[in-house]
Amino acid sequence: MGQNLSGGCACVAILYETDADPMLMLNCACPDCQKASGSASSAIVVVPEPAVRLTGEPRYPKSVGNEGKAVERGFCPTCGSQVTAKLERMPDVLGLQAGSLDDPSRFKPAMDIFTDSAQPWDHMQPDTQKLRQGLSA
Ligand SMILES: [Zn+2]
Ligand SMILES: [Zn+2]
Repeated sequence: MGQNLSGGCACVAILYETDADPMLMLNCACPDCQKASGSASSAIVVVPEPAVRLTGEPRYPKSVGNEGKAVERGFCPTCGSQVTAKLERMPDVLGLQAGSLDDPSRFKPAMDIFTDSAQPWDHMQPDTQKLRQGLSA
């Protein structure tokens, strides 16, 4: 199909590109994603990690603990944009923050995870699979 996903942070210090098809697209409403995004959830496109060509180095904050370790978010140390995400349960994959895509409209979530901690004002799409906790819960 030659689908090509590309994107990066707001100041373009971090850029990524991959020819791999997304394995999964999901929204994560765990408490850490809410804090980190300043919003209802993180929107993440999951791709095979070896297939991603990454320019620049996202910084991964040390997780503050509790259950929100499900996702580690990589951000640009210059502009602060969240760009990547590592999923605890899936070490061979890299998450791309959907809003960092050059074409964010290609984000079509199949799943909402950590719905137990979702906010009442988080209006999830009705046709997605809902997991109350993380992926392997
Ligand atoms: Zn940046
Ligand atoms: Zn999360």
